[in-house]
Amino acid sequence: QKPEIGNPIRTKAILERYGLRAKKSLGQNFLTDTNVLNNIVSAAEITKADNVIEIGPGIGALTEKLAQAAGEVVALEIDEDLLDVLYEVLFDYDNVKVINKDVLKTDVKTLINEEFSDPSRPIKVVANLPYYITTPILMQLLSVDVKWASIVVMMQKEVAQRLAAEPGTKAYGTLSLAIQYKMDVRLAFEVPRTVFVPAPNVDSAIVELTPRHEALAVLPDDEKGLFRLIKGCFSHRRKTLANNLQGVVGKGADKKAQTQTILTELSIAPSVRPERLSLDQFILLANRLRDAEL
Ligand code: SAM
Repeated sequence: QKPEIGNPIRTKAILERYGLRAKKSLGQNFLTDTNVLNNIVSAAEITKADNVIEIGPGIGALTEKLAQAAGEVVALEIDEDLLDVLYEVLFDYDNVKVINKDVLKTDVKTLINEEFSDPSRPIKVVANLPYYITTPILMQLLSVDVKWASIVVMMQKEVAQRLAAEPGTKAYGTLSLAIQYKMDVRLAFEVPRTVFVPAPNVDSAIVELTPRHEALAVLPDDEKGLFRLIKGCFSHRRKTLANNLQGVVGKGADKKAQTQTILTELSIAPSVRPERLSLDQFILLANRLRDAEL
């Protein structure tokens, strides 16, 4: 039996044998801790009934574990230099496909339909993400018309905290709202920087996203308008909501009075900071501003 990829000695040996160096520009920090790898796979509750998409397999440490647990694995790796390693380390697994593509330039729905033998099985994303594009990747996954069974991903701890943040906290903002609009967020566990080769400058955390369990109390009449409003309201976090709203609806005594009336009707104090508002309140506000053509 071959030793697992995800330990420091084997990782360094593989990199040396292939003359590879981790590329900072591609967010390459390889996981070298078997416990962490096993815990990621457990958190995602992967079974042989699952189709798994991995983003950024690197030298295959997590991919190997996923191959053992899942029905099929499709792994998207942008770095051509890693393909030979991946071919070798995953040679024994016939349920893994490595695809040399940039995830941000991939039509994920088509990928699912073309690469999995049974696309109707539960689809899970499991990844140690390239941190420099965490948010764009999440936004892309949530914008496609795919019913994810779950998305279990490692990211910078601070970003994980923003995803999970509740109203009234420092970490709460546009990212929290954009994610929580579609998904329930659970911080599964934290991971120290020391378990990566090379070690990144930040600590990490595993986040589990699952489709919202509870439906939204109100739906936005215009999704884009909702997120324009949210972005506008958070453009100056330390200013009041009313002040930020001026930036969104425009200045002028009339608009100010109309906005004020709407806030009063919704029982929202104009003097609150934007981070006090819940998602439901933002939706109500967006709908009312839209009705008033503001
Ligand atoms: N899964 C491996 C592990 O846990 O050790 C490697 C994780 S490393 C943090 C991120 C991986 O994502 C790297 O292999 C990197 O080359 C890859 N990557 C970076 N940008 C990418 C992109 N746009 N599309 C696909 N993969 C990308």
